[in-house]
Amino acid sequence: MGTKVNLNPEQKLAVDTIEGPVLIIAGAGSGKTGVVTNRIANMLNHGIPQSNILALTFTNKAAREMEERVKSITGKKLSNLTVSTFHAFGVKILREKIHYLGYRPNFTIYDPTDKNSCIKEAARELKLKYEWAELNELSNIISGLKTGRIKWDTNNELHRPLYDEYNEHLKLYNAVDFDDLIVRPKEILESNPEVLEEYQNRYKYIMVDEFQDTSILQYNFIKLLADKYRNICVVGDDDQSIYSWRGANYENLLLFERNFPELKEIKLERNYRSTGIILEAANSVIKNNTNRKSKDLWTEIDPNAKIIQTSYPEDERAEADFIAETIASAVIRDRKKYDDFGILIRTNGLSKAIEDSLLACNIPYVMSGGTSFFQRKEIKDIISYLKLIVNTDDDVNFLRIINTPRRGVGKKSLEIMIGKSTERRSSLYSASTELVFDQFTPLKGAAHSGLADFIDLIEEFKVKFHDEELKISDTVREFVEEIDYWGMLVTEHPDNEKIAKWKYDNIQTFIDFITRWENNPDNTEPTLQKYLNRITLITRSESDDDDKGKVNLMTIHASKGLEFNNVFLAGVEDHILPHQKSVEESGNVEEERRLFYVAITRAREHLYITACQKRRSMNDTVEAIPSRFLDEIPDNLKEVVECDNVVEEEEEAKVFFSRMPWKK
Ligand code: ATP
Ligand code: MG
Repeated sequence: MGTKVNLNPEQKLAVDTIEGPVLIIAGAGSGKTGVVTNRIANMLNHGIPQSNILALTFTNKAAREMEERVKSITGKKLSNLTVSTFHAFGVKILREKIHYLGYRPNFTIYDPTDKNSCIKEAARELKLKYEWAELNELSNIISGLKTGRIKWDTNNELHRPLYDEYNEHLKLYNAVDFDDLIVRPKEILESNPEVLEEYQNRYKYIMVDEFQDTSILQYNFIKLLADKYRNICVVGDDDQSIYSWRGANYENLLLFERNFPELKEIKLERNYRSTGIILEAANSVIKNNTNRKSKDLWTEIDPNAKIIQTSYPEDERAEADFIAETIASAVIRDRKKYDDFGILIRTNGLSKAIEDSLLACNIPYVMSGGTSFFQRKEIKDIISYLKLIVNTDDDVNFLRIINTPRRGVGKKSLEIMIGKSTERRSSLYSASTELVFDQFTPLKGAAHSGLADFIDLIEEFKVKFHDEELKISDTVREFVEEIDYWGMLVTEHPDNEKIAKWKYDNIQTFIDFITRWENNPDNTEPTLQKYLNRITLITRSESDDDDKGKVNLMTIHASKGLEFNNVFLAGVEDHILPHQKSVEESGNVEEERRLFYVAITRAREHLYITACQKRRSMNDTVEAIPSRFLDEIPDNLKEVVECDNVVEEEEEAKVFFSRMPWKK
């Protein structure tokens, strides 16, 4: 909501109630986030300093948009206002106070794959052996234990040594995992009353958007901060609760009501976002859920275009082409802007075909939420190596790959290297070089030779990448063979060569990208450094502000709180939405329905829904079945359009339709 919006009476009440606890539970598009931003503006008008205000939300993008909205209402520079995600807020506290935990200030944050590698290393230290698949499970258990979602009991006491070793490893690498970003700051606040008081006095006014998805841990963290002044306003929508698997659920609400009994509750029922058709579709879908606070959500926006459901594209390529071509033609013919479009997917795996088609149509896009191609572990590993070759002082990347593939550098050797680098105030790479060539080196056999080979390798390729006679892509290919990445993949996935192949295939695609780039005649004097800068720009775009004018490709989870004039919802098939796992674990279909509801309610004017006949997943092609949720949208709200490569004969289409199991 910008400056010129007239708040309705309920919204106004919420905006004017600055002191004391406030609870707003209301449907999609009813102006909850707008209330938060207007409330902040109102506080600033009342002379409350920016530095006293803390607003938390779920995604970086949502936080950025929130800040933008406040800026446009107040016209003020907001250098002291804290609008961020819970995790970014945790990082902020850790940057200021991590020394309370005995860490060095410049800590690294491990993503899930880094985390798995770290668990694996900790396990190796304890002489335990795990398969990759087990690692994921362990990672979940460790996360559960750390965040308190799983209690320590006799059953999982057996994980204690690994749990401790893992955390020691993290500390050794001066790294924290995602859970630590909330757990650790909370720990610091709980065990240091003077620090707690410092933050309580700093953040006297606290607001939480998307409260339905706040985990109990996050809730308790924020409650600590709010306990002294009790100015806390939480807003959310139980119908959009989509993180129960991460420990967020209805309980927060009950806790909030119990902990802040003096709260004021405010209801918002008018939707200002979507057309009548889209809202009706959303309402028809969500009413099939049983466990919800009932709401009357209405809009005055005219029912407009019907929801477009494509007749079934043959496969994910045809689906992706349909999406990309529809966008391209809307931009050219109707002068639409790229950032008017959102493409939503249930799972990360659906992005590759869509990324491909967007690139082919020259459509600029930004991916948020899930992992873009460049963030896959195998691609990141290679990029880390290349970055280290370009700049050997890059300690972060050094640590990332020093044992990928393994080269016998264990915990002890690493401690020696870190010690040396601290003593010499030099990078880990130069400290290692010194250690390798020291005739009294404390490094032992395998570690010593492993490290010596590593340094040789980096030096050799430093020279090769500087050789203008050689193609960068060829040198990268040679490098990947030299480190035997394939061998590592096979060892990591001994009983699943498919995964190994798939990952290796991704690396080949990456090398193809480089080839295409360096063969482009516009690209004079390509260098490795230039290429790396270029990808850094692509992969950094989540945190930058340069995603204006780009199509937004994202997981439904990441789309929460956002809105687009035009939304494409791809892969609306059984096994995808609802997701196979959720159907098997009964009771989770309602959560999947909420996801579908979130996706529908992102659209303002146009909503496109697609489902294919066949879909490739991993190395298999499977028959796809349209999602059971499609039936919950009344027919009069939908229009079926043809898209290329679809089932041509109407008869065939009928046969296809009849395959849907619940029709029988
Ligand atoms: P979600 O549940 O998806 O997070 P929300 O409840 O946070 O939605 P907002 O994003 O704040 O809703 O608002 C939805 C849209 O409605 C925005 O485009 C906003 O500008 C508009 N809007 C909200 N209130 C008003 C109003 N009083 N007058 C005009 N437009 C409004
Ligand atoms: Mg919102």
